[in-house]
Amino acid sequence: MGSVRIPFAPTTVPRGLRDALLAQAALVPLALDGTVDAADGTRKFRFRTHDGRAIESVLIPDDKQERSKLTLCISSQVGCAWGCAFCATATLGFGRNLTAGEIVEQLYWAMELSGQKPTNIVFMGMGEPLHNLDHVARALSILAHPWGAGLSPRRITVSTSGVVTGIDLLAKVRPLPNLAISLNATTDEIRNQIMPVNRRWNIAALLAAAQRFPLGHHRRITFEYVLFAGVNDSDMDAARIPKLLANIPSKVNLIPWNPVPGLPYQRPSEERILAFQTMVRRPDLPVYIRTPRGDDAAMACGQLAARDSQVPSGFFELNVARHVS
Ligand code: SAH
Ligand code: SF4
Repeated sequence: MGSVRIPFAPTTVPRGLRDALLAQAALVPLALDGTVDAADGTRKFRFRTHDGRAIESVLIPDDKQERSKLTLCISSQVGCAWGCAFCATATLGFGRNLTAGEIVEQLYWAMELSGQKPTNIVFMGMGEPLHNLDHVARALSILAHPWGAGLSPRRITVSTSGVVTGIDLLAKVRPLPNLAISLNATTDEIRNQIMPVNRRWNIAALLAAAQRFPLGHHRRITFEYVLFAGVNDSDMDAARIPKLLANIPSKVNLIPWNPVPGLPYQRPSEERILAFQTMVRRPDLPVYIRTPRGDDAAMACGQLAARDSQVPSGFFELNVARHVS
């Protein structure tokens, strides 16, 4: 398997020196542990870090094939500390932050495995990116730099559960990515129940941070709203969303909840989701329904829960050596 991104690895460095380098440092910070293909063309990649932790990324072709959009959903942490009641990653607890190298490497592996360059990157895999902002900011600069992946920052989106201090810090990061905020409820009472982060920064504090966030011309903040039957999908919820977002250039992504075994939620019916969309929509507030992708193979939003397991000894070294030579 050839590699274009470590130009000195295959040929110009003598084998002895290359072996010595590989023994010293993770030239390729992730080893591939497997891929899963869903019926709709979505692909999940499972990786191992050098210390045996498991993470996942998902490559999502546009559901309209004539558009050439190809989105890579990447992880920023092993597990997650924020404990949202509906999320598979939360069940893992917090493992550790990923380094910038481990974050960016997910893109290079995806390119190598698919033979295509993703057009869009979303930090919507495992972890809370604003809880790992130093490494995420370094990764953003590499992803956007012409000598790195050369992606437009307009095509990179960082999603947060509502870490307000992180939103204010992200506002100063350059290049500035798009911001997505997982709102998921319209009252503090419900949001406290499903997202513990809300007990630290409530909806008012979160929306104030969103309002402060610098937006380029014609840019909007994306508000994700996962729909749970009987929890946050009432007519009153639908009526409150445009009011809450009234002073923020916004768009809303409604995400039908993707089932996670053992969690006590249900996805609303299709009719209810469509009716909810109609009630939320305003001339200046676009509302989209995010079609669940790859949910037959546990690779939709919130279904990423790669568990660490025993890695056979020598697995990482073998895998890395294959990748760079
Ligand atoms: N930690 C960040 C980014 C990762 S989660 C955040 O919370 O925003 C990415 C998105 O998946 C979030 O909008 C989250 O609300 C959503 N999500 C989590 N679990 C889900 C599930 N089971 N079904 C649908 N969406 C889910
Ligand atoms: Fe973490 Fe986001 Fe899952 Fe909440 S929804 S537990 S913040 S990954």
